[in-house]
This record gives sequence, C-alpha cells and structure tokens, in this order.
Amino acid sequence: MSSIFTRIIQREIPSHEVYRDDYVVAFLDIAPLSRGHVLVVPIEEREYLHELSEASARALGSALPRIARAVMGATGATAYNVLQNNGSAAHQAVPHVHFHIIPKPAAGAGGGSGLGIHWQPTQLNAHDAATLADGIRAGCVGADS
Ligand code: AMP
Repeated sequence: MSSIFTRIIQREIPSHEVYRDDYVVAFLDIAPLSRGHVLVVPIEEREYLHELSEASARALGSALPRIARAVMGATGATAYNVLQNNGSAAHQAVPHVHFHIIPKPAAGAGGGSGLGIHWQPTQLNAHDAATLADGIRAGCVGADS
C-alpha cells in the first residue's frame, strides 16, 4: 500500500519538508487551509491510525507538539487545529496516516481561514454508555501493537 506520501518521504516527489526523524516526516500541505498548514506523516506505511506500530505512535506523539510549536512560531498564529482523518467516509483522501496541523489565522489575515468545523452534538445515551465504556476499556488493555 504505497501512496503519494511514500514518494514524498522518499524524496521522489518534491515537497517543502519541515521536519524529519527516523519515524516521522512533515511537509507543507500543497492545498493549505491556512498559511502554515503542515502534514505530519509516519514513515511506516499504514492507512489507519490504529494500525501503527508502537514505535511510530511514540515518535508521532513526540514530534507533533514540537512541529506545532514551530508552526505557531513561524506563522504567528495563536490557535490551531490538529486533524487526522481515517477512512474515505471520514474525509481521508490519501491512504497513509497523516496529521494536519492547521493554524487558525486572525480574522482578515488572509491566506485562508483555517479549518471549518460542522459540529452537531447529540446526547450521550445513558443506557448504552456503561456497556460502551466497558467495551472500549477492554479493547485498550494490552492493545499495544
Ligand atoms: P486527507 O483528506 O486528510 O487525506 O488530506 C490529504 C491532504 O494531502 C490534503 O490536504 C492535500 O492537499 C494533501 N496533499 C495531497 N498531495 C500532496 C502533495 N503532493 N504535497 C503536499 N500535500 C499534498
């Protein structure tokens, strides 16, 4: 399962790379929602977040705050979203795990308005909540890959 991101990671396709370590590469998004929109990508080829190895997961956890700090510093933005889509139904276009870091510019700053969110909350189902939490809790135990 190779995608365009593997070719970017291997530098077969040019990108504006901003970060690289043994597990993670980050580069500017080619169609940014705002100035400084960056993609943070594990070198490991996996389509979904839950398929990642523990080593990639740890490296991403370490790299994301570092890169977010750098994006905020370089753009002057003081707010941002981190977005990570899994599956085409959830808006994932490139089937290789990636995190978007998307600065939220000040109103009128130009260069895009950042991420728009259509958030329609429902109510937690009181009958289902305990069963649901039990199921997820059980799945978390010993779930390291
Ligand atoms: P997603 O919908 O979460 O899969 O987002 C995929 C992202 O990859 C989009 O924001 C695209 O603009 C970005 N993208 C696709 N091709 C490239 C490329 N060659 N260089 C940089 N970003 C890209």
